[in-house]
Amino acid sequence: ILIPFLGLVLAFWFYSARENFKPEMLKGKRVIVTGASTGIGEQMAYHLARMGSHILITARTEAKLQKVVERCRELGAASARYISGTMEDMAFAEHVVKEAETSLGGLDMLILNHVGTSYFDYFNGDVGHVRKLLEINFLSYVAMTVSALPMLKESEGSIVVVSSMAGKVGFPFTVPYSATKFALDGFFSSLRQEFSIQSVNVSITLCILGFIDTENAVRAAAHRLLVPPAPREECALEILKGGALRRRELYYRYGSTRLPLLLRDWAAELLDYLVRSRYRLDSAEKN
Ligand code: NDP
Repeated sequence: ILIPFLGLVLAFWFYSARENFKPEMLKGKRVIVTGASTGIGEQMAYHLARMGSHILITARTEAKLQKVVERCRELGAASARYISGTMEDMAFAEHVVKEAETSLGGLDMLILNHVGTSYFDYFNGDVGHVRKLLEINFLSYVAMTVSALPMLKESEGSIVVVSSMAGKVGFPFTVPYSATKFALDGFFSSLRQEFSIQSVNVSITLCILGFIDTENAVRAAAHRLLVPPAPREECALEILKGGALRRRELYYRYGSTRLPLLLRDWAAELLDYLVRSRYRLDSAEKN
C-alpha cells in the first residue's frame, strides 16, 4: 500500500512543481511555423501574433499565406512574413530556415506542422505515394531541423513536431500517413537522447493529436470516424504551451491517462478492437 501511495504523492508533487505557461514566454521570440496557410498551423500563427512573436510562416499557397500574414500583423505580431514553396523540395525546406537567419537574425522556435495530402481509405499499394509522403511529412522535417540547429543551439531554443496518435498506434485508413508519423517519433526521440548526452539545450516537443476540426481533416475523415473533432484554436494553443514549457510530449484531448498508450503495451488486441470500434464500417467490412 505504501509504495503506490508514495508514487501518487511524488506524481502530485511533480505536476504541481511544473512551471505554468504565460503568453509573455513567446513575446519577441522568433518562430517558424510550417503548414500555416490553413488549419492548426494558421491558428498557431494567430496565437503567436497575439503574444507578440516574430513569425515566419510557410506553405505552398501564396494567396492564403498573404492573408494569414496580414491578420497576424493586425493581431499584434512583432513582425510577420511568409515564404511559399513545397516541402517536397529539400532545398526549399533549407531555404525557409536560411530566411529566418537573414530576416530575423536567428531562431527561437521551429514548429514543424505541415502535412502532404494523402487519402483516408484502405492502403492502395502505391509505393510512390508512400515515398512522396515520407519526403514531405518526414524528410523535410529532418532537413529543416539540421539547418536550424546552429541557430537553435545559440538561442537554446525549441523544436516542436506535430504528430498524431496515428504515429503511436496502428489506425486503419491512414497507412502511408501513419508510417511518416511513426518515423518522426523514431527520429526525434533518438535525437532528444543525443541532445541529453551532449548537453545540447534545445528542447524537442512531440505533439500527439487526436481528431481536430480542420477543414481538410473533417472533409477526409468525418464520414468514417465516430468521434467528434476537437477545436483547432484550442489545439493550436496547447501545442504552443507544450513547446514554450519545453515538454517532452504533448497529448491533446487524450487526458492524463493516455489510455491508448497504456493499452498498447499491455493489451494490444484490446486496443486494436477499441480503435476499430471508433470507425464507421459497413457490415461487409466488419467480416
Ligand atoms: P491542414 O491540411 O489543414 O494543413 C496542412 C498545411 O500543410 C497547409 O498549410 C498546407 O498548405 C501545407 N502543405 C500541404 N502540402 C504541402 C507541401 N507539399 N509543402 C508545403 N506545405 C504543404 O492540416 P491540419 O491543420 O489538419 O494538420 C496540421 C498537423 O496536425 C499535421 O502535421 C497533421 O498531421 C497533424 N494532425 C492533424 C489532425 C487533424 O485531425 N486535423 C490529427 C492528428 C494530427 P498548402 O496546401 O498551401 O501547401
